[in-house]
Amino acid sequence: MTADKLNERICLGIESTADDFGVGVATFNGDILANVSNGYIPETGGIHPREAARHHAEVADKVLSEALTQAKIKPKDVSVVAFAQGPGLGPCLRTGATVARALAAYLEVPLVGVNHSVGHIEIGKLKTGAKDPLTLYASGGNTMVTAYTSGRYRVFGETLDIALGNCLDVFAREAGLKHRKGLPLGAAVEQLALKGKRLVPLPYVVKGMDLSLSGLLTAAVTALQKGMFSLEDVCYSLQENAFSMVTEVTERALAHTEKKEVLLTGGVAANKRLQTMLRVIAEEHDASFSVVPQSFATDNGAMIAWTGVLAYTHGLTVPVAESFVRLRWRVDKVDVLWVKQP
Ligand code: AMP
Ligand code: MG
Repeated sequence: MTADKLNERICLGIESTADDFGVGVATFNGDILANVSNGYIPETGGIHPREAARHHAEVADKVLSEALTQAKIKPKDVSVVAFAQGPGLGPCLRTGATVARALAAYLEVPLVGVNHSVGHIEIGKLKTGAKDPLTLYASGGNTMVTAYTSGRYRVFGETLDIALGNCLDVFAREAGLKHRKGLPLGAAVEQLALKGKRLVPLPYVVKGMDLSLSGLLTAAVTALQKGMFSLEDVCYSLQENAFSMVTEVTERALAHTEKKEVLLTGGVAANKRLQTMLRVIAEEHDASFSVVPQSFATDNGAMIAWTGVLAYTHGLTVPVAESFVRLRWRVDKVDVLWVKQP
């Protein structure tokens, strides 16, 4: 097949690792033709895996047909189907995998299993033009600092307990804030933090290259409940401590790896205060700084479609019989054959 013909080909990607069901469409040369998502919003509390999975099953056909319409393609135009194979919540992953398997079988096209964390890194690189970045990937379920070395995205530091987005979300719920469409809980904390003035004493826990956020979360909730500080001040202080911790780890990884680019990706990438802190350390190390555009920051199908293209064009397909989901599939277990740095 000629290069032109290859570039006309299309990968459809399905994301369903947690609260979002997304379908993206990418061409083999990296044009994103569609990116449609439908998020599950729990009535109370955090994500309930089976309820989220039921949501995904209910919206799958609608999201799929919206994505095809947005991409202006017919199902027969799809050459490859990719799906997020892990890590994530079992029932949610299995729902997306079932849709992907059925679609690949019906269309008689290859199936590709994509690692969700690799997806966040690759869409960040595609959309910002970063080539070989040190990446802070911070979302509702993951917080890690990674960079490519010797065939894989290695983890240079990560949370030892809860993820940064989860920390903000749990705090927000404890404070009585409500998740609304268009305003994730983390964004609500960000807005309140802008009005905070006083720094509340809270724990700061960096252990070696890793960090811990659960003690900080408990202390922030307790500080609020005691009523000695305003909600704005606690939001401000929670952000300052949590973001300083991830920035410290990122800076040390940057000094160690000597990468020349810093990339921020994942749902929490939308946060302006976090962006500012990272920009400062990047500049101090003569590295460029970029943030994934907001529509590709939270979990989305486009990142799975694009990583599906990269994997497929390097021979990484998965037979349906072996396409079981991988709940704890770490990013540093994935061979990224398409990256060519040393
Ligand atoms: P993801 O897990 O990638 O889908 O991202 C969702 C997470 O991003 C949730 O924890 C949100 O609260 C968080 N988030 C979204 N917008 C913001 C923001 N502006 N500041 C902080 N966190 C945010
Ligand atoms: Mg999500």
